[in-house]
Amino acid sequence: MTTKLDPCPFYIGGEWLEAKAAGTPVFNPSVGEIIAECPVGTATDVNAAVEAAQAAFADWMETPPVERARVLFKFKLLLEENFEDIVRCNTREHGKTLAESRGDVKRGMEVVEFALGVPSLMMGEVLENVARGIDCEAIRQPLGVCAGITPFNFPAMVPLWMYPIAIACGNTFVLKPSEKVPLTAIKIAKLLEQAGLPKGVLNIVHGGREVVDALITHPKVKAVSFVGSTPIARYIYETGTKHGKRVQGGGGAKNFVLLMPDADVENSTRGVIEAAFGCAGERCMAGSTAVVVGSAEKTVLPALIEATRRIKVGPTDREPQPDMGALITRQHRDRVLELIAAGLKEGAKIHADGRGVRVSEAPNGFYVGATILDQVHNGMTVAREEIFGPVLNVMRMDDLDAAIELANSSSFGNGASIFTRSGKVAREFKHRVNCGMIGINIGVPASMAWFPFNGWNDSFFGDLHMQGKEGVQFFTQQKVTTSRWFSYGEGDIWHREAK
Ligand code: NAD
Repeated sequence: MTTKLDPCPFYIGGEWLEAKAAGTPVFNPSVGEIIAECPVGTATDVNAAVEAAQAAFADWMETPPVERARVLFKFKLLLEENFEDIVRCNTREHGKTLAESRGDVKRGMEVVEFALGVPSLMMGEVLENVARGIDCEAIRQPLGVCAGITPFNFPAMVPLWMYPIAIACGNTFVLKPSEKVPLTAIKIAKLLEQAGLPKGVLNIVHGGREVVDALITHPKVKAVSFVGSTPIARYIYETGTKHGKRVQGGGGAKNFVLLMPDADVENSTRGVIEAAFGCAGERCMAGSTAVVVGSAEKTVLPALIEATRRIKVGPTDREPQPDMGALITRQHRDRVLELIAAGLKEGAKIHADGRGVRVSEAPNGFYVGATILDQVHNGMTVAREEIFGPVLNVMRMDDLDAAIELANSSSFGNGASIFTRSGKVAREFKHRVNCGMIGINIGVPASMAWFPFNGWNDSFFGDLHMQGKEGVQFFTQQKVTTSRWFSYGEGDIWHREAK
């Protein structure tokens, strides 16, 4: 018996268009079954979407910001009403637990809430008398057609980092969601349509490289937001900017969590477990390396190993919920297993071993159990490469200086955390560590909607980050007007001086 596949249409100019040709499989990773086919679009599809977005732009940019915000307000209410439905769709195509999907959708909804403030957020600046009788004002205007290309790991949140702010600012948008998780993006876009968004303001195309290349080189696309792995982020940034576009590109990461000798054992263990194994480690803010400083190897590390061994893996598309779900695809699961093997070959010791995990109720799911690799050192493959799975590297250092030096030797720069009871140590860490999002007794210091999602180094390409005020700056351009008004003698009768 073949299961009926979910539809996965394009959304162009307000029409939902079914693809004619076969696409790439979308899995329910919990069970390893195909649930949809994501169409492989072409440059022609991209052109149709960009033209639709361009046609919608003229009227949308003239729509008062407060009216644009009202559409988003209805959208936000619909997101609340349909919250559990979106959460289940997200879990089904991604594999994360329902609790993790709730976090994914909520973080995205907060960006919508932020974007509701667009009439204030877009306000400009004025200075009277920049010279005698001359005034200067700077206003913000939208750019035009913007494009977004998103990864698989946050099917709801990452697209919502982009288009709510873009369209609130008066732009129109073409989204290319990950071909591995297109269904949540479609479900959410249907709510925005229901909220009354005019046709063509948001469009969705599907596919791989051909579609992405067509978007980032299209003459009518003004700005590109990208989130994904570092090599692709670098490629999008270089190609997009070469073609005259504004580009913001979030890349991969490897984040360090320092465990100081005075760290509270219970809280830091919980923090590291959540950071390393939440979303099965498929997070750009995953705390994938625990740096155990001095005597923390005798206090926190044993508790961490114990807690990791207790993590229950299983299907997330049903009750009871496990602690951790499956990885996105069979290929990715195999890559994570290969990296664990490489780590062991290069001298790491394994404490919790997730390689042989058996999930009897879903034997075809893409599972790897929670794993700890100890005595990892720089130079090992697992220390260099982003594993993006439930594998925690443990590195041991003698003191804070050595631990900070280690964190700063990474080419990435998304996040770094420290667990300590000392304000002085925390301050020193915050000041010296070379990355953009810092956690103090917080395992996953991901910025929320009001702040920039602030990667540095190879974790970000561009100048203006997603979310917060930088998001508004990215999706608008300033126009500065300098004005002077002359007196023309007779007829200029409105004030005493002219008489
Ligand atoms: P990916 O780079 O494989 O894919 C991201 C997007 O790029 C997808 O839409 C995909 O279709 C497209 N793409 C893939 N290969 C391409 C190519 N050769 N040319 C053009 N486009 C291409 O990333 P992924 O596996 O979907 O997501 C995981 C990665 O995303 C991890 O590295 C993770 O750290 C990163 N990520 C970063 C952030 C951040 O804010 N920095 C947030 C989430 C995820």
